Amino acid sequence: MAYGKYVRRMPHCLECGDQIEYGRTDKKFCCEDCRVKYHYAASRMSKTYRRKILKTLSRNYSILESLIKADTVSMDLADLVPMGFVPGVVTSYRRNGKHEVYNCFDIKYIMTATRIYSIAKIQNLSVILQAGTETKD
Ligand SMILES: [Zn+2]
Repeated sequence: MAYGKYVRRMPHCLECGDQIEYGRTDKKFCCEDCRVKYHYAASRMSKTYRRKILKTLSRNYSILESLIKADTVSMDLADLVPMGFVPGVVTSYRRNGKHEVYNCFDIKYIMTATRIYSIAKIQNLSVILQAGTETKD
């Protein structure tokens, strides 16, 4: 025959990188060991990532809280970032008219490209907590 032999394109193992030699072409691992190792590492990385985000939120919160205690309601990001404040890590965000209102737990602030302002503790927490525990129908 003039046609070449059909060659199956087998993928490489996501864990060790070896070419998978048999089985379905959508196989991801060469063996059970690699599959277990890969998922273990992925789950550990996910936990590390979550821990890191929580740590960042906690540091952001401490910084914001110290600003409130010092009656500071506005600060440049250029001054905040060297203190360890990470602008992109927040617990919630909403657009209120033309303002971008961010929350770090129960502290809210408006953030622009260069600064944050109107830093304040949320006053009606009990209402928010009640709304949050309501079950959806
Ligand atoms: Zn492997």
